[in-house]
Amino acid sequence: MAIIADFHLHSIFSDDCSTPMEDMVKQSIELGLKYICFTDHLDYDFPKKYGNIFEFNIPNYYNEINRLKEKYESKINIYTGIELGIKEEVIERLDTLLAFNKFDFVLNSTHLVSNFDPYYLEFWKDKTEREGYCKYFDTYYSNICLFPKCDAHAHLDYIVRYGANKNKNYSYIDYKEYIDRILDYTIAAKKMLEINTAGFKYGLKNPHPHIDILEAFYKKGGRLITIGSDAHSPEHISFKFDETCKILKDIGFKNYYIFAERKPIELEL
Ligand SMILES: [Zn+2]
Ligand SMILES: [Zn+2]
Repeated sequence: MAIIADFHLHSIFSDDCSTPMEDMVKQSIELGLKYICFTDHLDYDFPKKYGNIFEFNIPNYYNEINRLKEKYESKINIYTGIELGIKEEVIERLDTLLAFNKFDFVLNSTHLVSNFDPYYLEFWKDKTEREGYCKYFDTYYSNICLFPKCDAHAHLDYIVRYGANKNKNYSYIDYKEYIDRILDYTIAAKKMLEINTAGFKYGLKNPHPHIDILEAFYKKGGRLITIGSDAHSPEHISFKFDETCKILKDIGFKNYYIFAERKPIELEL
């Protein structure tokens, strides 16, 4: 088998993406994918200084996905997901959002640490690389506990894209105490750990999270995973999925999951 589902895709509904949904769908069909899920960014109250507004019109989102679902029905299954940027101040708004809107799949993402985006240098100016990574893992842990109404925990350790030395001085062992509690909670709460292949795109030679972390997760009994490329443009859809499939199988994983109406469906690796 190969990975035939990409469950983390962006489109023009995300403020950092200009690709029309239909272009993402066409390319996914071209690549032979059978299941895709749009997970556009919704980060309520994203700091204005960064110039992005990660919010969009939900009815328009449904309409466009439904139009494409019908048009490409015989070729691919399209799902309606969302990537939620979590922070304490917006939990109530997120609860309301999910109470009034039905999604197939909800990603819990940490994009901000104390309201700073680690993508920008400003975050790093008063801390060492290690301090920055530790703060990110702390925030990630708080966020998954704060907002359990999600299906999967996204891109654990993507912070290592942004440190001055990226992942050169980074290893699971050095951050074990921070990462283990995230893995333990994920397993206990029966949430999915997302395997996010965008790490390769940033030259990291591994997906998020790092292969050592995936091994630790497996050893602890973790079996629930979703897989997504986090593509913002067609050329990155299902990026390095073959390599990722091999990594996962070598560790021992046999299955991965997709979601329909918030319910997991098992697929074979
Ligand atoms: Zn994200
Ligand atoms: Zn994303």
